[in-house]
Amino acid sequence: MAYNILTAELMHETNTFSRIATDEQAFRNGYFLVGADALAERGQQNTELAGFLETGRKYGWQLDHVLSAAAGPSGKVTTAAFDWLVEPIVAAAGSKPYDGILLGLHGAMVTDFCEDGEGELLRRLRTVTGDRIPIAITLDLHANVTAAMCELADIIVSYKTYPHIDLRETAHQAGEILQRSLVGEISPRTVGVTCPMLEEVNGGRTDMGPMIEWLRAAREWEQRDDVYAVSINAGFASADIAEAGPSVVVTASGDWQAHTEFASGIIAEIWNQRHQVLNDYLEVGAAAAIAARYAADSGPLIIADYADNPGAGAYGDATCLLAALLEAGIDDACFGPMVDGATAQQLSQHQPGDRLEISLGGKVDPAYGGAPLELQVELLSTSDGRYVGGGAMIGGLHRSFGPTAVVRSGGIEILVTTLAQQLLDLQQFRSFGIDPVAKRVVALKSMQHFRADFEPIAGRVIVCDSGALATPNYQRLEYRQVRRPIFPLDENFEF
Ligand SMILES: [Zn+2]
Repeated sequence: MAYNILTAELMHETNTFSRIATDEQAFRNGYFLVGADALAERGQQNTELAGFLETGRKYGWQLDHVLSAAAGPSGKVTTAAFDWLVEPIVAAAGSKPYDGILLGLHGAMVTDFCEDGEGELLRRLRTVTGDRIPIAITLDLHANVTAAMCELADIIVSYKTYPHIDLRETAHQAGEILQRSLVGEISPRTVGVTCPMLEEVNGGRTDMGPMIEWLRAAREWEQRDDVYAVSINAGFASADIAEAGPSVVVTASGDWQAHTEFASGIIAEIWNQRHQVLNDYLEVGAAAAIAARYAADSGPLIIADYADNPGAGAYGDATCLLAALLEAGIDDACFGPMVDGATAQQLSQHQPGDRLEISLGGKVDPAYGGAPLELQVELLSTSDGRYVGGGAMIGGLHRSFGPTAVVRSGGIEILVTTLAQQLLDLQQFRSFGIDPVAKRVVALKSMQHFRADFEPIAGRVIVCDSGALATPNYQRLEYRQVRRPIFPLDENFEF
């Protein structure tokens, strides 16, 4: 018998501190692909959808895909945008008697009317499906997994890598568990255990530190006959919601006391190691000083601005790091992105080779990352900002920065874009005429994802905190909704 399965992908990581609301246009600027368009763009790449489709072919599912949509991390999703995206999914779920639903979600969506966008999507789906059919969801490693998500989804599987390169595999795992549920072999449920902590688990690293051991323990627990998935979620601290924080989530059946004890054991270790620091966040001046004396014998110095990472909802227009590099006279360097649509627009009126004065970056909220820089620049190129990813994370996927220009100031080539996107793929420079491999210094805005494509070319990697909105210094943000006490805002408490 061919099972009827409904699929959709809907992802947003909401930085509730961002001034920029996430509306319909924000999703269109990311991607909004309906039905066959989504299959064409995402069906063969490293995406959840590709994993769902492969599992469906393996088991002969009759699969209907509603839509795939994501906006870059930014402020709360508007009610109108949420309804516009969710209503077609819910309508499809009620349109015929589906046997199961598979959703590729992020797990940190906050809307302007509720703290738990994914929980709300699942709640609306359950109003049409009831408890009759299994719902499986995949989540980003940076999910804030809520009690509602665990209650309403039968199956939850999160990424296990950061940089996230296991999207397709994660979808396979969720699909396999769904199939076993469909044939009546298992009846999974999901429980989650959390701790009051803002810091990402293991400083957000899956490539070093104790997280390696915790992930290994999770894989081992999955070897039990009654355990189907164990997910260790780092959490997402820039979403100021009651349930923000790390979690260990177990999809299983059988001995719930044992599963909960296992999850609690990992959470206790995460809590006990909360003071361990795995990233050394340099001040911008210190980063510039390292750049000044760096010899690129074994590849460029990569400077990652952790705090202005658009991939965590920062504006991408922080100027402090660029100012420090210019001040230090750094040459043979590139920098990107500087998100400044007005300046990109201004530059598009000019010709390559033109020299002009621009006021660059620092416009959204100079309190986080610095004021606009008044610069004399030479325009090197302008474009519509389109590119195709080449690395492990977004290889083969079509993306756009919107109207984009490259300018040179001093010895630094600067990628000026309209849309805010994390710099995590070499093609995001190369497509616009900048060759990062040939540079002495490459400054980019990313926390960890850049490592997938840039570590192989790097002579050395350093990470800095420019003071922008995604600063790891949480004391600079006005938290109102998170549970208290919470680490590191509050100290000297046990939970
Ligand atoms: Zn993530």
